[in-house]
Amino acid sequence: MSIQQNLNTLINDLPETVTLVAVSKTKPNSDIMEAYHVGQRDFGENKIQDMVEKADALPKDIRWHMIGHVQRNKVKYMAGFVHLIHGIDNLKLLKEVDKQAQKHNRIIDCLLQIKIAEEDSKFGMTAAHAKTMLQTDVAALKNIRIVGVMGMATFTDNHDQIKNEFQRLKTIFEDLKSIVSPNCEMKTISMGMSGDYPLAIACGSNMIRVGSSIFGARNY
Ligand SMILES: *Cc1c(COP(=O)(O)O)cnc(C)c1O
Repeated sequence: MSIQQNLNTLINDLPETVTLVAVSKTKPNSDIMEAYHVGQRDFGENKIQDMVEKADALPKDIRWHMIGHVQRNKVKYMAGFVHLIHGIDNLKLLKEVDKQAQKHNRIIDCLLQIKIAEEDSKFGMTAAHAKTMLQTDVAALKNIRIVGVMGMATFTDNHDQIKNEFQRLKTIFEDLKSIVSPNCEMKTISMGMSGDYPLAIACGSNMIRVGSSIFGARNY
């Protein structure tokens, strides 16, 4: 199946409330343009350098999502154009995003990455840490806006475990939503990838990050 067919099949089954981020990491610009021609505008990359190069070369109405782990010293390269940073997992990083956004005279939307998986390899903060951050630190950061949470389930074929982890993130999201703070407008739950997005949507996701189901397997 072609990229366009994959994308159309996926989009046809998607509820209108769910935003699809097409994860184009490791894929060439020509693949991105195939998806672009079907109307796809949200694309996700996990390396800042790759995202910068693609953004330079490709149409300016693409919304670029940084879905990977973010190194603080590289925030400056994407601060001028990034649409949404999914992987905020500490205050120092958030402060750096705020500082760089200020230089570009813009507000950068961010998601707090919550660790829901059992595996140690997954990044993210605890729900308690996220809550403290929203209650005490975010109000002073005028050039960022926290718009939701992001999470990755454990890489397993245990359906119940994945479901539990997604449900936990939904619960955490609802809890954080009740916090009223400036620079905070909780509306997005980014969860679900190629292998588990239907389940994620059933558990309340409204933003999915799908790569291989659209572009095919990655060769690293
Ligand atoms: C690579 C990646 C995805 C997409 O994974 P697929 O299984 O190819 O859909 C989603 N989210 C993050 C954070 C990723 O790094």
